Amino acid sequence: MPQGKLEALFTEFGEKPFHARQLMRWVYQRGVTDFDEMTDLSKSLRQRLRETAAIELPTIISQHDSVDGTVKWLFESGFGQAVEAVFIPEPGRGTLCISSQVGCALDCAFCATGAQGFNRNLTLAEIVGQVWHANQTLPRRDNDDADFAVTNVVFMGMGEPLANYRNVVPALQLLISDLGYGLSHRRVTVSTSGIVPQIDRLGDECNVAFAVSLHAPNNALRDELVPINKMHPIEELLVACWRYAAKRPSRHITFEYVMLDGVNDTLRHADELADLLANRPAKVNLIPFNPFTGTRFTRSPDDAILAFQERLRERGLVTTTRRTRGDDIDAACGQLAGKVSDRVRNRLGDKKRRMATA
Ligand code: SAH
Ligand code: SF4
Repeated sequence: MPQGKLEALFTEFGEKPFHARQLMRWVYQRGVTDFDEMTDLSKSLRQRLRETAAIELPTIISQHDSVDGTVKWLFESGFGQAVEAVFIPEPGRGTLCISSQVGCALDCAFCATGAQGFNRNLTLAEIVGQVWHANQTLPRRDNDDADFAVTNVVFMGMGEPLANYRNVVPALQLLISDLGYGLSHRRVTVSTSGIVPQIDRLGDECNVAFAVSLHAPNNALRDELVPINKMHPIEELLVACWRYAAKRPSRHITFEYVMLDGVNDTLRHADELADLLANRPAKVNLIPFNPFTGTRFTRSPDDAILAFQERLRERGLVTTTRRTRGDDIDAACGQLAGKVSDRVRNRLGDKKRRMATA
């Protein structure tokens, strides 16, 4: 529950709303999920909570540890489906990449999550539960009891966060609240494929770091790769981005650009991209494509990625290339969960076949 709703619950009990703050500290900071252990709440209040409320933890299907330190969890999300979160340790920080939906309706051409279709939105509890689980199970930083492993959260797992605005914004608020995880706005990033009206709302309601999945420098190509572009074309999207940036002075928007061999990776594309973004509060993050079973795309060769990056830098754009991590555990967006649902589909297929032959 968001803080406001918890406070309302305590008021409904005839208790003081500040108990919400105590309860939040127990759950998020101390990792305590048994009301009986919350010793600064009165015995009668604990009993009331036990009778009327529940703290439900995420169910873990599996944990995968990569040789490079990346950890990936699959969380049960009902009906044989799963969502995933990935922890990426780096010197000085630990980034948790979390999911916001089971599947995704936006159907980007190169995305394993999109290929699974849309199932449902995650609840606030399921979103924050991913962070709770990572922080409770990973070793503390520098063995210091106070410092959780997760210092940064990015909404770059499964799903389109701005299509689940209702639950994502309260989750962001819990991540930055001192009663939750106390992360700074700069350390929480929402990534969107470009749902323009929600970009404006987010800028007003919760001004966190912001990344946009651009992936193409013109509408003809973006229409193919990121179909939401047909509804909110590049010009409209960029204007919303600059509005967002104006609300966070001195902060840049990250433009993600997946490198697809022979599709969007030539120097002509780099020039077109620079025309759109140069002299704006923008930086570019090139993502080498992560191939998955059934895709028609391949990853751009390293020299093409390097040349693309150099051209953008020559044009004055701060450009980085994402390092690929956790390859041995299918850590990239949607891949492992995709395998789970493939297995489920296979099982259903087997059952149908068995029924057909019976
Ligand atoms: N739905 C949101 C956030 C989740 S996807 C969005 O689209 O921004 C996080 C990032 O991974 C996006 O930039 C997305 O385009 C990218 N991505 C998806 N599939 C990919 C793949 N197979 N290889 C590389 N990047 C991919
Ligand atoms: Fe959805 Fe993002 Fe994948 Fe597009 S890239 S299908 S918006 S998760």
